[in-house]
Amino acid sequence: MRVLGIETSCDETGVALYDTEHGLLADALYSQVALHAEFGGVVPELASRDHTRKLLPLIDEVLAEAGMVKSDLDAIAYTAGPGLVGALMVGACTAHGMARALGISVLGVHHMEGHLLAPMLEDEVPEFPFVALLVSGGHTQLVDVAGLGEYRLLGESVDDAAGEAFDKVAKMLDLPYPGGPQVAALAERGDTARFRFPRPMTDRPGVDFSFSGLKTHTLTTLRTLERDGALDEQSRCDVARAFEDAVVDTLVIKCRRALQASGRQRLVVAGGVSANRRLRAALDTALSKLGAQAFYPRGRFCTDNGAMIAYAGARRLALGQRTDTLQPRPRWPLSELTPPVA
Ligand code: ATP
Ligand code: MG
Ligand code: FE
Repeated sequence: MRVLGIETSCDETGVALYDTEHGLLADALYSQVALHAEFGGVVPELASRDHTRKLLPLIDEVLAEAGMVKSDLDAIAYTAGPGLVGALMVGACTAHGMARALGISVLGVHHMEGHLLAPMLEDEVPEFPFVALLVSGGHTQLVDVAGLGEYRLLGESVDDAAGEAFDKVAKMLDLPYPGGPQVAALAERGDTARFRFPRPMTDRPGVDFSFSGLKTHTLTTLRTLERDGALDEQSRCDVARAFEDAVVDTLVIKCRRALQASGRQRLVVAGGVSANRRLRAALDTALSKLGAQAFYPRGRFCTDNGAMIAYAGARRLALGQRTDTLQPRPRWPLSELTPPVA
């Protein structure tokens, strides 16, 4: 089954072609980062308009890359939510319109299920069951995954998502959006021993997160340095490093707890922050001590992309699931998903 995947939930237009027999055939991505840069955040109306401009050319590009035409498609999967309603609408309308014209199946996919299954596009495929750490711009969640569509929320951030905290700290350091990679690069040159930032909510039981206080702590540290005339380049690196260390440490502690509590042997890490190298190294070390293993998507499939939507869609489409309503779901808890009925 050849499935075209369409991702338009936020500021990335992603398209990919996944074949259930031959794997990923092609993928293309257009990022709107430059478009939103001058506004300091994603402007929903501009995002929708830009998806409208870029989506059809990207679909043509992906088909050409795979050496195929539209009539070679068996089904279309698109992100139905969560995300910006206007942006989601562009993908939904395009998917349903194309599917109707071609007389093929169409399915609305949950964006976070896409992220969660993205490591399955790699050579070493994680088997169910596992614990998933979803760490992105909008989510920080630990989920127990018994099977496809069997998701139980173990814990989540009570305020900012980890990626959001990276982006806000980047702003404090005058670094451009998206801040994660920028802060991580600065942290590379930072001294880990200079500052020690708090590890929020690790002193109490449970696997919920909070990153808002850590963000404030970072701001206060920067202000104090500035007041003392000590905010030089090295200090900026040291602050970035202290922040990254605190986020990484917190995530590792909670992942370890979630694995121990659930008895699972595998951890799937996905979403933009899963690209973070220090996080991967720390998780690998911690998990090897538990006799557990971590699985990650390749770098470019950590952040939003069409491949994860094509893949998640293909898994469900292959079992006969279809979507007959075009209505996107801007708010859509992952735990509401159910397994596809075969
Ligand atoms: P959601 O998936 O929750 O709807 P989103 O789609 O905006 O949110 P993603 O595209 O999955 O989020 O990830 C983007 C986030 O990942 C940004 O906050 C970005 O700063 C962060 N990020 C990307 N690379 C890194 C990195 N190397 N280290 C830390 N954070 C990173
Ligand atoms: Mg994005
Ligand atoms: Fe995402």
